Amino acid sequence: MSLSTQSISSLRKQLTLGEIQPGDILDSLAEAIGSKNKIIGAYLSHDLEAAKEEANSADLSLPLGGIPIAIKDNINVKGQPCTCASKFLDGAYLSPYDASVISKLRAAGAIPFGRANMDEFAMGSSTENSALGKTVNPHDVNRAPGGSSGGSAAAVASQTAIAALGSDTGGSIRQPASHCGVVGLKPSYGRVSRYGLVAFASSLDQIGPITQNVEDAALMLNAISGHDSSDSTSLEQEVPDFTQGLDDGVAGLKLGLPKEYFGEGIDPAVRQQVEKSIAGLESAGAEIVEISLPNTEYAIATYYIIAPAEASSNLSRFDGVRYGNRAEKPDDILDLYRRSREQGFGPEVKRRLILGTYVLSSGYHDAYYNRAQKVRTLIRQDFQNAYQKVDAILSSVTPSAAPLLGADKDNPLHQYLADIYTISANLAGICGISVPCGKITSDTGSQLPVGLQILGTHMGEQKLLRIARAAEIQSGV
Ligand code: GLN
Repeated sequence: MSLSTQSISSLRKQLTLGEIQPGDILDSLAEAIGSKNKIIGAYLSHDLEAAKEEANSADLSLPLGGIPIAIKDNINVKGQPCTCASKFLDGAYLSPYDASVISKLRAAGAIPFGRANMDEFAMGSSTENSALGKTVNPHDVNRAPGGSSGGSAAAVASQTAIAALGSDTGGSIRQPASHCGVVGLKPSYGRVSRYGLVAFASSLDQIGPITQNVEDAALMLNAISGHDSSDSTSLEQEVPDFTQGLDDGVAGLKLGLPKEYFGEGIDPAVRQQVEKSIAGLESAGAEIVEISLPNTEYAIATYYIIAPAEASSNLSRFDGVRYGNRAEKPDDILDLYRRSREQGFGPEVKRRLILGTYVLSSGYHDAYYNRAQKVRTLIRQDFQNAYQKVDAILSSVTPSAAPLLGADKDNPLHQYLADIYTISANLAGICGISVPCGKITSDTGSQLPVGLQILGTHMGEQKLLRIARAAEIQSGV
């Protein structure tokens, strides 16, 4: 079996036994990328040569020793480009430092080697907002891989990466993982340092792994978690070994189904796969309970006020002076700002920045931004109430499987609405995971993956992963 198709845990066994060398994995990846990336488009760039040099000195006694990892193109890796899939940074920026997750991956022996495509500045759900290239779904090349971490998910699904990092502000790890049939974990807010992640919405962003299976997600989470003095929102809590207790099963656990997540809007075929997986967990001994998250109907409006508001502030640093590309021959400083931003940002980013600036402007601040913060508190309380009754919450990740490319081109609102099951977890700061739970036949005849979403309590990743592992076994996917 080709090495590029294997999981971290399987490769690690062979590496420690001396049966393979890290360079062999990179050779296998180079071959896979060479033959598939032209079609799939998961990578914007990669440096396999530099990775091979690093591999020569990899410490194989470390937990991820010798494992190459694909990195979403909004996470800084020293000396590599970090474009955020934007013309603003393309060809004009090399990271001067490693993000904390990258330092931690390196300390665990991993080798970050490639830059995965994404929606520009992580704004979007299909990777079609990338200004730098097209990524397609490995299960059906006429469809989107999801987004915004679409390159990371497509790389793992097409077996051109062993594992990848993505970022999730409103579903951007879980949703592409679901559409591509791989595992995607959004850690609790504060579990993983955001230092060196190009900020989209700082109160929502988290970095997390996209992997072939749940065990690999636990291994990656082990490596990237923990307090970091460079990110004051990272929590000072001990990091458990997330691989411990993975196989303890779900007997005796209470799992909640929010009635608001199973109502109208969900594709019946998707719902059927998710329900099959839930029945599997029930037969493994979990008690399934109906719950309510009554403020779900306000989640999209709340997110699409808070996220653009924070983005409008975060992206003000792209002014043509400090980072990236600069408009030529400006008349004055305002002309420099205006034209650099006009030329550098794509349409979706501009839409968000205009929206965000509007909701923060004096006169509207109270009506929109402050109000959204209050509703955010209600959404968080919904989850706190639910976790009085259940250990975790189950749902579909998305209302439908992967859309055809271009399906939402003229209808961004339709794309926003499809975030309904994922964004509340970011607003509440809790952890969530997408686990493949089966496939449906699309209207064009292709077989498309469906993901089961499991939402855990804040800092409840250990139990979350244990339930995810049980779901993975039950689904047999
Ligand atoms: N689809 C959401 C958005 O467009 C989520 C993006 C994300 O999680 N980065 O904002």
